[in-house]
Amino acid sequence: MPQKLRDALKTIEEYKKTAPHYEELLDILGEILILREKHLQQLDEGTFSLDERLVESKIEGGFPLVDVIGGSFDLSRPKEYFLELLEIAEQRVPGETGDVAQRIRDGEIEFEELIRRSFASALDEGEEDESGEEGADSETFDLIDLFLEESLRPSLSRLAARYGSRIAEAEWSEGYCPICGKEPKIGEIRQEEGFRYLFCSQCGYEWNFRRIKCPFCGNEEHDSLAYFTVEGEERYRVDVCNVCKRYIKMVDFRELNKEANLDVEDIATLHLDILANEEGYE
Ligand SMILES: [Zn+2]
Ligand SMILES: [Zn+2]
Repeated sequence: MPQKLRDALKTIEEYKKTAPHYEELLDILGEILILREKHLQQLDEGTFSLDERLVESKIEGGFPLVDVIGGSFDLSRPKEYFLELLEIAEQRVPGETGDVAQRIRDGEIEFEELIRRSFASALDEGEEDESGEEGADSETFDLIDLFLEESLRPSLSRLAARYGSRIAEAEWSEGYCPICGKEPKIGEIRQEEGFRYLFCSQCGYEWNFRRIKCPFCGNEEHDSLAYFTVEGEERYRVDVCNVCKRYIKMVDFRELNKEANLDVEDIATLHLDILANEEGYE
């Protein structure tokens, strides 16, 4: 088991003790991370292969390397992974996701369409996802969204590993991910200088981003950019923009002298999402 995974599982166990209300979700995340590792090992280059000649111009033009909605890809590997992810939920609560899995296997629901929708709804937060409202509660749906996102993670993270350093050299300055185009939900403050990095949970890529700038609307005015923290949890903060009313969570583990696993931190800070929403930020 790679060190990074071992550390993540250890942190998950710690958080389950200190934040028992996250126990179930953290357990699910632990299972996801183990399954992800298995799929990373088995992965071939296939799913999102790129035309090398276009890489530079895409990065320079501010275009993500992969256009998941517009491109045409063979998603059979991610689909296989998605079906295995659904089993995680099914084993915990029988009946939870088995129906969706069956409908995908029967071809009644098209996996590719679910993926396109999850990308489209991420790009257009205002519009509610209409996918299969029938009888399932919202919690099931959040899990399915999580699994959909996760299903592409191994293949996309391949690209992040391959092109990451070239992108870093080119100093990508957009607020969306240079690999897959998704918007970040969390980031971290690193190094002595306090550089801000944004994290894409879709592909796992992290990129340096100006500290005084909204990733979502590009606002750079000090007056309308702010942040809040929760007492006793100063290692986390929520950066907000009062122009576009969006927010992003930030992790600062410099004092703890420990490396943050942002997949784990994203789950362990869901209360900050709730707070931000209550304050009117999306
Ligand atoms: Zn990404
Ligand atoms: Zn903004």
